[in-house]
Amino acid sequence: MSETAAVPTAAMRARAEIDLGVLRANVQTLCSRAEGAAVMAVVKSDAYGHGAVRCAREALAAGASWLGTTTAEEAVELRAAGLPGRILCWLLVPGGPWQQAIEADIDVSLGGTWAVREAAEAARAAGRPARVHLKADTGLGRNGCLPGEEWAELVAAALRAEAEGLVRIVGLFSHFACADVPGHPSIAAQLTLFREMTAYAEEQGVRPEVRHMANSAATLTLPESHFDMVRTGIAMYGLSASPALGAPEEFGLRPVMTFSAALALVKRVPGGHGVSYGHHYVTPGETTLGLMPVGYADGITRHASGSSPVLVDGKLRTIAGRVAMDMFMVDLGGDEPPVGSEAVLFGPGDRGEATAQDWAQAGATIAYEVVTRVGTRVPRIYVNGAA
Ligand SMILES: *Cc1c(COP(=O)(O)O)cnc(C)c1O
Repeated sequence: MSETAAVPTAAMRARAEIDLGVLRANVQTLCSRAEGAAVMAVVKSDAYGHGAVRCAREALAAGASWLGTTTAEEAVELRAAGLPGRILCWLLVPGGPWQQAIEADIDVSLGGTWAVREAAEAARAAGRPARVHLKADTGLGRNGCLPGEEWAELVAAALRAEAEGLVRIVGLFSHFACADVPGHPSIAAQLTLFREMTAYAEEQGVRPEVRHMANSAATLTLPESHFDMVRTGIAMYGLSASPALGAPEEFGLRPVMTFSAALALVKRVPGGHGVSYGHHYVTPGETTLGLMPVGYADGITRHASGSSPVLVDGKLRTIAGRVAMDMFMVDLGGDEPPVGSEAVLFGPGDRGEATAQDWAQAGATIAYEVVTRVGTRVPRIYVNGAA
């Protein structure tokens, strides 16, 4: 979790500016959308590339009351940085750091009877009960237990461990497969199954604090999925889960990250000049080329080669030729902007720059991947922090 907050003293090769004021506003918007359900700020994978510790603090200051991570290591790191309150992690493997998680007061997800055994053993060793959330596979086809026998076995095993004082079952949860596809028939089917599976667990004696299922897309478009808590990731960072759902501004959200780099070189070349590895771009006539000092080591997908837009000196240019490990070129069409000028790869979009969604489209991926990929070599510069 990189936390590079120092104000730069020298010109920067590249930077990802993280506007924490925008993040807080997004969280507030999501809290009001959640209509009384608690909001878990999902800060897995270094807060989708935005910096987990800083974003977690700001999200709590803005009204989120839980934090969510994928791995136990991510959760423990947040706790070590002083983050208070409830933190849930949902991907532990056999032999993983169960005990460290329990000792750090982290809630863990149980998606099978093997996991109940792991949690119970770790709780015994830690000398304190594990707080657990039982994971139901209502149709995503990933982790968690299927309805019927599997779910019944998980519930029974967890209740036995609870009776022994080794676990406390605090949550029942599931995850959508297609919440970002409005009207997809799996949405209603998953909701029905979740209601049935939680009702079964409660009949057996489970007393959960929180039943939770909604991701960002469901939080924004499916109020019936909110239950006691929603788990929002992408929307907090001001991005839409899918263009099919609508643009972020339609939900009152604004992108938090602006990725920019300094123009490292401008040079005049004749027509017919091959550009970058493989010569996939050849200058159509005499022109100027600009060198951008960022490449796939910084998280610029190679699929952006020849396609993604970059704002240089007020004009949108397209990546010329292949993205290499550390740099790529743009055709400046004869213009000669000063070397060192800031070029914006993506941001909120209101200065004429592209957005992460534009990059996703150009690179045949999703906005989640565009921001999450931004490499550790790129400093995160935090502005408008309050927490
Ligand atoms: C990533 C994740 C979320 C958040 O999803 P978004 O679409 O980013 O809101 C919620 N729950 C689980 C289990 C996740 O893995």
